[in-house]
This record gives sequence, structure tokens and C-alpha cells, in this order.
Amino acid sequence: MGKKDSVVIAVAAVLALVIVGGIGVLIADTVKKNIPEETSERGSGTLLTEAPGTSAAPVEESVTDLPFPTAPVQTREITTQEVTTEEPVTVPVTTPEPTTEEITTAAPTLPVTQPPTVPADPSTAVFVPTHVEGSTLTGRTEKGYDIEVKDGITYVAGLMIANKTYSLPSSYTAAGGKLVPEAEKAFNEMKAAAAKEGIKFRYFSGYRSYELQTSLYNRYVKNDGKAAADRYSARPGHSEHQTGLAFDITDDKYTMVEGFKNTAAGKWLAANGWKYGFILRYPENGEEITGYMFEPWHFRYIGSNAAAIYASGLTLEEFLGITSVYPD
Ligand SMILES: [Zn+2]
Repeated sequence: MGKKDSVVIAVAAVLALVIVGGIGVLIADTVKKNIPEETSERGSGTLLTEAPGTSAAPVEESVTDLPFPTAPVQTREITTQEVTTEEPVTVPVTTPEPTTEEITTAAPTLPVTQPPTVPADPSTAVFVPTHVEGSTLTGRTEKGYDIEVKDGITYVAGLMIANKTYSLPSSYTAAGGKLVPEAEKAFNEMKAAAAKEGIKFRYFSGYRSYELQTSLYNRYVKNDGKAAADRYSARPGHSEHQTGLAFDITDDKYTMVEGFKNTAAGKWLAANGWKYGFILRYPENGEEITGYMFEPWHFRYIGSNAAAIYASGLTLEEFLGITSVYPD
């Protein structure tokens, strides 16, 4: 090999390096351009905490009236964790300008995609019973939870109970005849989170007064007979909707039909509701325990304890160790 050849090869090698380097910079630029877009889209998850924040103040105040003192804290903790885990995504983007040589090796390892956000594992959730101030302890459940009564309302482990065994006074109106603000806020957060995944739903029934339940139940009895009506409709005073904590949810296509469980919304709610404090209240094959046939649309706001109940796979009645049977 002559001296001339060596020079030619050296020049060629330098040219090759420059070309490869140039391509590397182009790739890096493209990757960089793409990443902030995705990050900003994920980053908009913070809106989830900010958007409903407009009603944050009144909700804080209402908490004192609720039997779920820890509920809003836990809900926000989960949200924070979700947002926090997303933060590392932005880190590689701010990597300082690498040299040409580094790009060729570093570019392929850039984390263009990140695994989906994984929230706290519900199986690690611990159920925390609470107490209602000024209530009277009237007994303990099979599972050892306190049964307390205040103003004619029964609370078990601090949770307001309205089922076939425990009824609410006819005079009880939740939150002045509306959904409990904390529960509604949680629903809106859940709805916003689902919307980001392309899942849409709304609630078509929230708080129901004693009077409305009376007319509904009487109509059902007239149409279907008492035995049939008792399987899907609560007698006045026994409806969970009177607590202001229950939601009948549907998408645009289904209304209170069992097929809702197979819809994207139904599946999403069943799998993710606990993250926002909700449990599927009357699950499939639970009629003998809950007293009601399967209602894939009916969700009850529990608060932070929803995670532990969800993870247990039990109905609320089983979890707490209570019954749901009419006395007659
Ligand atoms: Zn319902």
C-alpha cells in the first residue's frame, strides 16, 4: 500500500465519520422532537389534579362532615404517585448535547417509549376503619368492625351503610339533596382520567331522595311484582343512592343493562374505579350476599379504603361482615 493510498483511506474514513455523525445528529434531532410531544401529552396528567381543583376548597370543608376523613388524602396520593412516576420520562430529553461519536451509540438506547403508568398496587392497601364523631357503638360485625349509629344512620368501620339490613331515615338528605361533593369530585377525576384513554362515560343517576325512591320502587312493584322489584330496586330508605355516594354510570350505548360489563367503559370502571375511591357495589354472582342482582353500572364511593376492598375481591357486605336482608 502506497503513501497516497493511505492518505486516501484516511480522508475517506474521516468523511465516513462525518456522514455517520451527521445522520446521528439528524436521528437525535428527530427523536428529541418527538419526545417532548409525548412528554407534554403525558405531562398533561397534572391537569387531572388541577382541573377539578376549582372545587377543591368546598370539598375540603365537606370532609369534616364525612365518615371518610382519610379519603381525599389517599386519592390525591395516588394521583401524585402517578404523576411522579412520569417525571423520569423528561430526564433523557434534557441530556446535554452529545458528541458525534456518542450519538451513534447513545441514540438507539434513548427511551422513546415508557411503560404505562403503574399506580400503587391495591394488594398492598390496608383497610383503615374510622369512627364517626358523636355516634353510639351498637355492636360489632362478624369481622370485628364497629357498628355505630348517629342520627338514625348506621356506619360500619366508619362507612355509611344503606342496604337491605340497614336503612336511612326518611328525613336524611345527603349534602343538602345532592351528591356528596367529595364523591362527585372523585367521579370527575375518574372521568377525566378515563377520557385520556379514550373511555367515555357519565352518571345518569346519583343522589336520590327518599321520596323519589318511594315512587320508583312503587312503580317497579306495580310493574313486576314485589319479589322481582326487590331484586333490583331498593325499598325507600334502603337505597344506596340516598347516601349521595352512589353512581349509576353508563356510556352512550347502554343504560342499566348487564351488557355494560362488556363495554370499554364498563371494563375500565371495574378495573380502575378503586384508584378513585369507587367499588363495584353489586358484582356478578353476589345477589345472595348483597341482596341485589348484578349491576355493572352501580358504583359506590368509599374513599381510600376502596383499594383494600377491591383487592380483597369481596363484596362490601362480606368485607365488613354484615348482612343485607330485609327484616320481613
Ligand atoms: Zn344504582
